[in-house]
Amino acid sequence: MNHKTAEQKHQLLNEQLSGTSDGVARLDLIITFCRNNYNTIQKDTLFFVKAGLKIANKYNKKLERDILKTYLSFYLLHHEQRKKATSICNSILPGLLKNRCYSEYGLSVIILSQIQWAQGNFENAYNIVYKALDQVKFKRNKNNALIRLHWVLAGFALDLNEIDESYQHYTISNKFCQEETDLGMISYVKIGLASIYKLKGDFSRAVELFEEALSASQKNNLWLVESRAYYEIGMIHILQGNAIEAENLIFKSYTIRKENNALPALVSSLSSLAEIDFSKGEFKKAKKKLMEAYTICSEKNLKSKMAKVLSLLAKIAEANSEFETALNYYKKHTQLEKEIIKVEVENRHQYLKLNYKAKKTEQDIQLQRLTNRNLKSALDKEKELNDLKNRFVSVTSHQFRTPMAIIQSNTDLVNMIIQNSESKQKTQLEKANRRIQKEIYTMVNLMDDILILGKINSGKILSVNPVSTDLESFCMNIISGFNTLQKDNRKLVLKISGEVKVAMSDRSLLKHILSNLLSNAFKYSTVEDPIFDLVFEKDKFVISVIDKGIGIPEQDLPNLFQPFHRATNVGEISGTGLGLSIAKEYIDLLNGSLTVHSVLNKGTTIVLSLPYD
Ligand code: ATP
Ligand code: MG
Repeated sequence: MNHKTAEQKHQLLNEQLSGTSDGVARLDLIITFCRNNYNTIQKDTLFFVKAGLKIANKYNKKLERDILKTYLSFYLLHHEQRKKATSICNSILPGLLKNRCYSEYGLSVIILSQIQWAQGNFENAYNIVYKALDQVKFKRNKNNALIRLHWVLAGFALDLNEIDESYQHYTISNKFCQEETDLGMISYVKIGLASIYKLKGDFSRAVELFEEALSASQKNNLWLVESRAYYEIGMIHILQGNAIEAENLIFKSYTIRKENNALPALVSSLSSLAEIDFSKGEFKKAKKKLMEAYTICSEKNLKSKMAKVLSLLAKIAEANSEFETALNYYKKHTQLEKEIIKVEVENRHQYLKLNYKAKKTEQDIQLQRLTNRNLKSALDKEKELNDLKNRFVSVTSHQFRTPMAIIQSNTDLVNMIIQNSESKQKTQLEKANRRIQKEIYTMVNLMDDILILGKINSGKILSVNPVSTDLESFCMNIISGFNTLQKDNRKLVLKISGEVKVAMSDRSLLKHILSNLLSNAFKYSTVEDPIFDLVFEKDKFVISVIDKGIGIPEQDLPNLFQPFHRATNVGEISGTGLGLSIAKEYIDLLNGSLTVHSVLNKGTTIVLSLPYD
């Protein structure tokens, strides 16, 4: 009956297809057919998938192609072409996710992870599913994916005998089933959940769910689910002592499985029927079924099913007083059980390890999240304070500049008056006025520095305007300016080496940097002339400013670039501690570097290195 229905479906689709010549409409028909039948009539879906792929290629329908390829992979999975299925699924996952095709997305993840699981790569299998769960975490309407992802996780847990975990996943999966249209999927979820109830000993809930799955499967010709439901209900009857009812149901499962050549499942039906025969004392009938099961198990290498068959065969031999044969079967059985247990123990270890790893990662992530949150709030506070400070500093600096300018212009006025007066104190007044002007100059400079720093600290990007600069004459200009300023007649010793080159640099920034370095060299030394050493290297120029002055204590070196930091040995030498910190910022802007070498009471060498462009 099943076969016929499949044929009818096949024929119906063919009729529909011949009813339209519109490629896109045909493609839609094919996709719907595959979605409804991939589980049961895989051969037919394969046939139509191929036809559909041709159309999708012709019209360049990428999404439809990915959908069809999902069903192609499903077919491949069930026909031992795992490598091909894996590579196809990997290639279609991103597109399915992007286009929110969550049913096919979930199905592809099932295929990929089950392949890994079957090969014993548990970690890979888990990773595939958890990664997918993570990918859909914030997506809307993702239930179709969740049903499938939790279903496959439930299966893994069941495999490892983790009943509670399996139960949790099946429950989640089942919860989302209301909106599901893939009846095969729904039935599988129900069957899964039902088997957990059975394992937990809650037979009435188990039977209820198995029956739901059964009626859904009959309506939709899902023989896989139908036979499994018959089988499971039958097994519950055995447990409850209803042998006749049990035999009846398990036999139904046997017939369907036989008809569809579902070999591994067929062994389960055969062994259970044989067990019933045995309990009725019908050894011959039992043995016949077991021999059939035995052949399948050895062909398909089904170890745990074989173990059960062997133990039953042994019992029958024993009952027939064929002791040697019985012993042989028992030996084989024990050997097999040992192997199975060994594998199970290994699996269990691996599972525990995995579980531990997963939990630990989860904890680590949570901890990290918490730390980040704390850090962020601390950072926010600090930023707020900083902003406040910066705003305060720049506002007050600005406010200072205006009165300064007024004082400045008034000293000019006073100067004029002094020049024109006949006063006896003319020289004294002149001197006093010069002092005032000098201090104003210092004050304005300080305000400028603070304003620059404020700008830098508030994250404003200072602009850089590189222009072609003849370094040699540029440096000489600055040097001569400094030389004339010195009251003690000291002069910078200029050394130049290497092939003279022109640089693309921001002159005003560069001047600011050098001015501070040179002023420091004079300020923090007293007797000897400082040295200005300019070296033209291949792809950078290096300026060293060397003095034989007071030097810098080692403990101050790390903080030299902190605003307002001054070394402990400066004594009466005046300064604000801003020069180097600004210089450093400017050097960064110019992609250069600055290093300080200093020996206390011996002298300091500051090396500035900058690119030509
Ligand atoms: P200003 O802001 O006026 O330049 P400053 O010279 O004190 O003040 P920076 O130029 O930033 O500030 O230098 C920071 C500190 O580094 C100085 O206070 C000083 O202690 C030390 N320092 C810098 N250059 C030298 C040097 N050539 N010799 C000895 N100490 C130096
Ligand atoms: Mg300085």
